[in-house]
This record gives sequence, C-alpha cells and structure tokens, in this order.
Amino acid sequence: MPVKGLGDYDSANIFARILRGEIPSKRVFENDFAVAFHDIAPQAPVHVLVIPRGPYISLADFTAKASDAEISGFFRAVGEVARQLGLDAPGYRALANMGEDSGQEVPHFHVHLLAGRKLGSMLVTQP
Ligand code: 5GP
Repeated sequence: MPVKGLGDYDSANIFARILRGEIPSKRVFENDFAVAFHDIAPQAPVHVLVIPRGPYISLADFTAKASDAEISGFFRAVGEVARQLGLDAPGYRALANMGEDSGQEVPHFHVHLLAGRKLGSMLVTQP
C-alpha cells in the first residue's frame, strides 16, 4: 500500500491546479519559490496556505528532494508571508501535515499559517 505523503506526484492535485491558474485562489504572496493563498475553509480568522512552486508531495518529499535554494527560498517565503500579513506581533501557528496519521488531504506540500485569535492547545486529541 502506498505511503501517503510519499510516492509519485499527482500533477492533477488541487494545489497544482491552483499554481497553474486553472482554479481560482485568493493569492496574498508569490515569488520564485512559493505561492500563498487563503484557505478555502479557514479554521482561524487568518488561515493562509504557503506552497512551493515545485512538485513536492509533502514535507518529507520536499526535504528529501528539493534543492537547498528551493528549501531556503520556500521557508524564507513562509516567514515573509507572515510578516507581510502583520502576524509577527500577535503571533501565529505554522504547521504542515505529512502523511496518513496527520490527515494530510492535498498531496502538494503546504504550510498552514493560522492566526487572528488565541489558537489554544496545539493538539485536540480524539479517542
Ligand atoms: P491538509 O489537510 O492537506 O493539511 O490541508 C489542506 C487544506 O487545503 C485544507 O485546510 C483545505 O481547506 C484546503 N483546501 C482544499 N481545497 C482547496 C481549494 O480548492 N482552495 C483552497 N484555497 N484551499 C483548499
């Protein structure tokens, strides 16, 4: 059985289509390494997704295969997006789901930026 978050990149995934402009998104940032846009189902007053331009399935895939320039460029962009949105002072949460247990839904690596209220404990555990 394939491991979710690893394997072959599906170029028809929803974020690949957003990158190609085939599906609309509310973009807040873009540069050579990253594109950021509002999540369609926000879980906080600010919920932005930052994705690399390259075809990487997950954090595991990205950190294994991307070049140093892509990795540094991407993570600098994550910080830049948060700064540009004015999130540094109130603070924010950055998270990436990877693979089966995390519940990762979209197989294109993305970092969630969540902000705009007290975010509570990091994990809500379910039985
Ligand atoms: P994951 O569970 O993979 O970490 O997060 C995927 C996120 O993508 C979810 O928060 C979901 O709301 C968001 N999402 C799914 N489809 C779309 C879409 O078509 N447009 C946008 N902007 N966000 C999406």
